[in-house]
Amino acid sequence: MIYLSLGSNIGDRLAYLRQAVAELVDFFTVCKSSVVFETKAVLPIDAPASWDHSYYNMVVAGESLCSPEALLYRLQEVECRIGRPKEHILGSPRVIDLDILLYHNVKIDSDALTIPHKELKNRSFFQSLLAMMGAGPDNAMVETYTPLRSFVLEPKIVGIVNVTPDSFSDGGCFFAPESAVKQVQDVYTAGATIVEFGAQSTHPGYTEIPPQEEIARLAPVVEMCQGIGCLGIDTYFDEVVDYALKNSFLWINDIKARLQKQTIKKIADHGAKLVTMLYGMDIKWLEGRIQYLINLGLCRENIILDPGVGFGKTKQENIAIIQKLSQLQELGCPVMLAHARKSFMARFSSHSAAERDIETLAVSQFAACLGIDYLRVHNVQEHMRFFVAGHCVAF
Ligand code: AMP
Repeated sequence: MIYLSLGSNIGDRLAYLRQAVAELVDFFTVCKSSVVFETKAVLPIDAPASWDHSYYNMVVAGESLCSPEALLYRLQEVECRIGRPKEHILGSPRVIDLDILLYHNVKIDSDALTIPHKELKNRSFFQSLLAMMGAGPDNAMVETYTPLRSFVLEPKIVGIVNVTPDSFSDGGCFFAPESAVKQVQDVYTAGATIVEFGAQSTHPGYTEIPPQEEIARLAPVVEMCQGIGCLGIDTYFDEVVDYALKNSFLWINDIKARLQKQTIKKIADHGAKLVTMLYGMDIKWLEGRIQYLINLGLCRENIILDPGVGFGKTKQENIAIIQKLSQLQELGCPVMLAHARKSFMARFSSHSAAERDIETLAVSQFAACLGIDYLRVHNVQEHMRFFVAGHCVAF
């Protein structure tokens, strides 16, 4: 087996790791991957303070037909493609760092390549990750390493931030701009891939507010969130989508499928993703909808299918549509489940909406086992902890 390390300490670190894993496919077959550990930067003694960004580190195990030297070359090509400059000052921050830790039982000590990697014995987080994957040297450090935080790359988590006074489970919690911004930061730090704003509660029986008011709710928050990862919006108003695209949002959740054609074209031109929701139970409707969106310029990977839990369904139908998730997956687009805390849970739980995180996790786990791409949840940190634990004992 060959073990590679992947590290990133600037920008959207989880996204860079995910991209690097995806780019290995041409020359490296990944058999298993570790969780991601956040670790303190190990810096040269004279390093400037500005280099001190923590790393996200992970290890992948797999096989390759490349020799060690050819593999190093291919890894360096991926580093360049992701955006790391060819000339690189030792220890300075990097969007991605790909190294060979172990290559079967091969030992190399040349100018260009040292295998096992020369830092392996000094970096207890590598040893800890390797040990969890069933490899690596026996060493006491393995027992003592504690990450700052830990993550999984899949399923991707969409963190909900409701800038509303009346949402069904967290109405009012993040209505004040400062508390919304803090929630955005918390949700990112916890490992969300996308932060999805809602500025209008659409719980059953809601009173509609006009698009101008949605924008007015969003504006002060969005202004303070410039540069924070990938932002998304849950809306059905063309005006709000326009506002979102102008502010570099890359995720539009269209819950009513009533956005105008020109708005959908704009979404496609921006390279943003569009969530399209199934109202009711007719999965076949989605097939036609996908074709409609493709004709307007969206590519399949940017069309996210949502089974629409809580929309146009009885409580029992909500459970049935979750049981049919694999039928949505067969349509060839990524799938997102947005089930968190929703009222169908009253079928089997007496807990109030705000107290349904355990039930939410259980349903998330069911969907994760089916290979769901995205889970849309309020409680990102708990989801990460849950999936990390599951991943680590699953080897
Ligand atoms: P860095 O990317 O900063 O970790 O360092 C990259 C340099 O380390 C390259 O010039 C490689 O030739 C050298 N190197 C030595 N051993 C390894 C290894 N096992 N994996 C990756 N790079 C290595």
